[in-house]
Amino acid sequence: MSGKPTPMMEQYLALKREAGDALLFYRMGDFFELFFDDARIAAGVLDIALTSRGEHGGEPVPMCGVPVHAAEGYLARLIKGGCRVAIAEQTETPDEAKERAKREGKPVSKTLVARDIVRFVTAGTLTEEALLEPRRANLLVAIAPVRDAVGLASCDISTGRMELEECAPDRLDAALARLGASEIVAPDDWHGDTDEVIARPRADFRSEDGEARLKQIHGVATLDGLGTFTRPMLAAAGGLIAYLDHAGRGQLPFLLPPVARGSGAHMAMDAATRTSLEILAAQNGGRDGSLIACIDRCATGAGARQLAEDLSAPLADLGAVEERLAAVHHFHADPLLRADLRAILRQAPDIGRALGRIVAGRGSPRDLGQIRDGLSEARRVRDMLSQSADLPPLFDRMLGALGGHGALVDHFSRALVASPPTERSQGGFIAEGYDHALDALRETSGNARRAIAALEAKYREETETASLKIKHNKVLGYFIEVPAKHGDKLMAPDSGFAHRQTMAGAVRFNSVGLHEEASRIAEAGAHAIAAEESHFEQLVGEVCTDREAIAATAAALARIDVSAALAERAVEGDWSRPEMLDEPCLEVTGGRHPVVEQALAKAGERFVANDCSLGPDDRLWLIGGPNMGGKSTFLRQNALIMLLAQAGSFVPATSAKIGLADRLFSRVGASDNLARGRSTFMVEMVETAAILSQATDRSFVILDEVGRGTSTYDGMALAWAVVEAVHEHLACRCLFATHYHELSRLADTCDALSLHHVRAREWKGDLVLLHELAKGAADRSYGLSVAKLAGVPAPVIKRAKTVLDKLEKGRAETGGLAAGLGDLPLFAASVEAAEEQDDGLGALIDAIDVDALSPREALEKLYELKAKA
Ligand code: ADP
Repeated sequence: MSGKPTPMMEQYLALKREAGDALLFYRMGDFFELFFDDARIAAGVLDIALTSRGEHGGEPVPMCGVPVHAAEGYLARLIKGGCRVAIAEQTETPDEAKERAKREGKPVSKTLVARDIVRFVTAGTLTEEALLEPRRANLLVAIAPVRDAVGLASCDISTGRMELEECAPDRLDAALARLGASEIVAPDDWHGDTDEVIARPRADFRSEDGEARLKQIHGVATLDGLGTFTRPMLAAAGGLIAYLDHAGRGQLPFLLPPVARGSGAHMAMDAATRTSLEILAAQNGGRDGSLIACIDRCATGAGARQLAEDLSAPLADLGAVEERLAAVHHFHADPLLRADLRAILRQAPDIGRALGRIVAGRGSPRDLGQIRDGLSEARRVRDMLSQSADLPPLFDRMLGALGGHGALVDHFSRALVASPPTERSQGGFIAEGYDHALDALRETSGNARRAIAALEAKYREETETASLKIKHNKVLGYFIEVPAKHGDKLMAPDSGFAHRQTMAGAVRFNSVGLHEEASRIAEAGAHAIAAEESHFEQLVGEVCTDREAIAATAAALARIDVSAALAERAVEGDWSRPEMLDEPCLEVTGGRHPVVEQALAKAGERFVANDCSLGPDDRLWLIGGPNMGGKSTFLRQNALIMLLAQAGSFVPATSAKIGLADRLFSRVGASDNLARGRSTFMVEMVETAAILSQATDRSFVILDEVGRGTSTYDGMALAWAVVEAVHEHLACRCLFATHYHELSRLADTCDALSLHHVRAREWKGDLVLLHELAKGAADRSYGLSVAKLAGVPAPVIKRAKTVLDKLEKGRAETGGLAAGLGDLPLFAASVEAAEEQDDGLGALIDAIDVDALSPREALEKLYELKAKA
């Protein structure tokens, strides 16, 4: 039949239109049902049965459903699976629907209960404990391109933190990489190349509206007191708040006043650098094998989230770094204090997230209990810290935030039971003695319950039926039950019992006395629940009033946890406090790569510590030596040491003197990982180009086998030119690993460049890699020995040896690959010369519209230019 859709289907389709591409959870009694494509998608993601119900347009309607009481678990899986969900609830009971139909003069039998979408559940707008990972922030980010800048608004609604920043369009990827958002929204007319952006109406992203909403939310007449916000920032804030409004159907979550992130306060790192250093995730995307997995000793989820943020955005301000280091030092120097404090923190609930739920209107009695317990732990932390004579300034400033909630803690301690339940509809969370009227109601129920127990005894005696019982169920309430064979006794008209129900083996009765007591219980119970409900609202109100102060306490606890955890890690790994300077140097003795060291230790092997010493006179190290010799590890360990230091941590080294870096770059030459379909060599060059245009003399750059992704001649030529450019032009600190021996000639012309190699030794025909760094150029290539080490069969090695001998003979005769490079003019001179005798190349280059080129065309252009040069 393909007739008119049923009223239910009409209602469903209207809600589905509103839900857009979110899956619609349509409430039907104890289930949320999904239909059509939604059902197919959900059944696939959740691995549940796909059935069908009725017909639509002549076709059966696919359907699947999840029970309401277990919905959270299913939601979690759908969100993880990349879905968004709209929850359509019944907004009236069937009885109310009937009443409404009568009022409106409509046929009662055909009336549907009204339903409405009450909330969108999306990855970036979660607050539920069960749906969030305790140790990871959950960020929602809005992007607002405004003329030649992009505004970014990010917030973690589970804790209410909100940050606004602005960046140049070409830095957007780096900013997004730092944030690691769960969900990104952008205007629908924006065409960025970031995948999986949720498009929202352009009109949502107006800076005037953003400003107005922020003022309204925070009850201020001007934002000046909160910071300096640019138009793109405000436009992004507008888009973010509009999306939150949409997702919460008008119920805004908790938002703290926005913080403006200045561009110079942090060490800049782009997406490629983050990936290659494996800061928050290893190359395979998992946390295992990442820097954070190796160093996170935080006692709380909030601490772990703070640590992740610190590592994502290391500081670029000497004073701020020193403050954090002093805080870590405080705990490093006092093992007892550290242990006591960490023991307290381990007990402390996640008040930041409890607060987020409460303010969003999704709080439970348990959340109130968590706030109480967390704040009282905070006081203990304050008492413990304030005993120190030489408290670091960072902590000194926090004492107020830690201890400021005496009245609230006292009040909540009196008001709430020790462990309040998550469910509030049943009551039972307000403590005895807090409200005398409530106590009286509870006493009434208690008395009535005892009275019912007494009635049972009395009726047994009167009817001489020992098996008589007074029972309770949802349908009948309280009733008297006897086995069928005794039923007659109670049936007698003058027995005082009224028959209610005959079951297979039993008969059920009521009595006036029982009815009275049962009514007392029901009435008192209803009143008690209403009383608890009103106390709940009041306690929630108190938390909301104090929300900013409570959030500050949560932030202070997280910072303390991070400091103590970093101290713990430093002790465990024998790390040391870096000496921070405001000059471009990097002097590390006994440096180690924390992740590699840990992995080796697990296998019972020892990590070989190495020194590094870069300064104004020797700022570029060219590092050669065999594959697998430890070049990459050395490069990265130094980058990580710098990153850790600027994040405020001790470092895995015997000692370190570190000049603050404004930017950190890490690049690995293309090998065989095909990134996003672009040619790997193209990726390598694009990334290298970014360094050459963005690094300053305050930056630190590590380049690992750059140039390896192409033929030997091209690769070596590029590597050569890149080293020269870094040395002459950028003048930044740089470690450059390469297997091109020929590059060692650069030492003749570049005076701040020095040669180093990882040592290896041939022993009884086998190669032994020492992983030890030494001065000077690598004396020879060990390619064949490494191949042998890797298990390449002996005949192949032997054949390769023959080929190599021939090649080397040829090299000896012709001067080799680098023959003719001896009289190459210096880099600076060659750049000038090229500029002077511009043979039309400049015009050609000018004519290229870089943004319009596909990678392939770009490559072709390069060849064309090269041919002309
Ligand atoms: P390369 O970049 O020279 O090819 P890697 O840095 O990738 O070499 O190191 C190869 C392997 O050698 C690492 O996976 C690690 O197991 C080991 N290794 C590297 N550096 C050290 C070191 N300093 N001490 C001990 N083992 C090391």
